[in-house]
Amino acid sequence: MADSSKILFAGDPHGDFEPLISAVKKHQPEAAVLLGDYELKKPLQDYIQEIIGETKIWWIPGNHDFDPPEHYHNLFSSQLAEQSLHLKVVDIAGVKVAGLGGIFLGRVWYPPHSPKWKSKRHYLNSLPVSVESTEISLKYQSAIWQDEWAELKKLKADILVTHEGPRSHRHGFIAIDQLAEAMGVKKVFHGHLHEHYSARIRNGIQVFGVRNAKVVDLLGNEL
Ligand SMILES: [Zn+2]
Repeated sequence: MADSSKILFAGDPHGDFEPLISAVKKHQPEAAVLLGDYELKKPLQDYIQEIIGETKIWWIPGNHDFDPPEHYHNLFSSQLAEQSLHLKVVDIAGVKVAGLGGIFLGRVWYPPHSPKWKSKRHYLNSLPVSVESTEISLKYQSAIWQDEWAELKKLKADILVTHEGPRSHRHGFIAIDQLAEAMGVKKVFHGHLHEHYSARIRNGIQVFGVRNAKVVDLLGNEL
């Protein structure tokens, strides 16, 4: 196993896990990090049974993992539910990896604009009493909330994985750049935009966009 392939990153599978499975078999990484948008018609483990046990699987959710609800349950109630990296920093193969899933939603927070709701609590408290909702809808759960982003920002990491892109991509968001900078990461890997590229943002941070259903190594090379 080459050092550059001890962790692999998989772009939005949208139901196609074959490239991930063959990359894991070929390169035998210590871990594989999945960048969101799985569109799971059955539980996640059923798609990747062949490589469970061969490598450690970690994942963040994308925007397509909340609707319809079966997609949500096939991820968040799967056997790999505990392997979510969302809003965490985890030591993976000796590297501190931070995760931020979800997307920026106009009805919650669309940087650089100020957030419509500062937190899930703030939003729930605003609902009319007649709604009596204590659970946030799946659509709203797919959003990046400013208070959760701010908490993650206080932590340190070597690599940040996100579903949304930073400003290195024309459809990216400054809030991802700010998060990467504050956390002191050297590299960002993101999915969602279905484009393979590498770029640098402030502080020399390297950004790698990962194409849908493709896999890259730690140097951003598509495998
Ligand atoms: Zn997406």
